[in-house]
Amino acid sequence: MGSLSGKTAIVSGGSDGIGRAIAQKLASEGAHVVICARNADKITATVEAITSEGGACEGQTLDVSDAQSYAEMISTVAKDKGLHILVNNAAHVGMGMIAETDLEGFQQNFRVNVDAPYMGTRAAMTAMGDKGGSIINISSVNGDRAMQGMSAYGASKAALTHFTRNAAMEGARQGIRVNAVTPGPIMTPATKAWFDHDPDAGAAIASANPMGRIGTPEEVANVVLFLASDASSYVTGANIPVDGGKANELYVPG
Ligand code: NAP
Repeated sequence: MGSLSGKTAIVSGGSDGIGRAIAQKLASEGAHVVICARNADKITATVEAITSEGGACEGQTLDVSDAQSYAEMISTVAKDKGLHILVNNAAHVGMGMIAETDLEGFQQNFRVNVDAPYMGTRAAMTAMGDKGGSIINISSVNGDRAMQGMSAYGASKAALTHFTRNAAMEGARQGIRVNAVTPGPIMTPATKAWFDHDPDAGAAIASANPMGRIGTPEEVANVVLFLASDASSYVTGANIPVDGGKANELYVPG
C-alpha cells in the first residue's frame, strides 16, 4: 500500500521531463495516474514504462492550450474514476526580446501556463466538491526572478504562482489544497537540448547556483508527492522552491 493508494491523479505534460518523473512518483505510491500531452508516441512510451514498473497509468493526447478541452478531459476522468490530485505541469516556454516578439507569441505563454491551469483548477474544484483534493501548479523561478528574453514566460509563471495563492483561499474550507512548486534549473530533455547546443550556458547556470549544480526531475517529483499526499494536510497556498537555493540567493562565495 502506497501513500496514494485508491487515488486518481492527472498530470498534464506527464510524458516527459519533470511531468514524467511526477507521474512515475505518484504511480509508485499507488495512484492511478492519467497523463496528457500532445505527442502520442511519447505518451505510449511513458505509460509502458510506468505500467512495466507495476504502476497504474493511462494517457490521453491533448494540447492544453485548448483549455476547454483540458477541462472537459478532467471532468470526464473525475466522473469515471474520481479525482484526488491534479498537477498542472505542461508549459510553453516562449523566449524572445520584447521588441522582437509579437502578441500572439506572448499570449501562447498565457494560454498554456495560465489559462489551462485556471480551467483545470476550475474543473477539478467542481469535481472535488467538498470531498477535498490536492492541486499542484508547476511554476518557475522565472516567475520570481527576471532575465532578458523571458518576459512572456516569466509573467505567465508569476501569474500562475499568485493564482495558486488565491485558489487556495477558495478551496480551503472544502479541503481542496492548492500549492505551487517552483523549480529552478532542472535537467530535462528540453534543458539538455539547450545545454548540448550551448555548453557554456549549462556550466554557467550550474556554477551560478548556490548548490553548484542543476537539479533532477526526481527532486521536483519528491516535493510534488509531499504536496499530493496527506503528509502536507495543513499546507495550502504555499509556493515551494526546488532550486538549490537560487531564488533566495544574495551572494554566493566563489
Ligand atoms: P519538457 O521536458 O519540455 O516536458 C514538457 C511536457 O509537457 C512534455 O510531456 C510535453 O509533451 C508536454 N507539453 C508541452 N506543451 C504541451 C501542451 N500545449 N499541451 C499538452 N502537453 C504539453 O518540460 P520540463 O522542463 O519538464 O518542464 C515541466 C514544468 O516545469 C513546466 O511547467 C516548466 O515551466 C517547469 N519548469 C521547468 C524548469 C526546467 O529547468 N526544466 C525550470 C523551471 C520550471 P508534448 O511535447 O508531447 O506535448
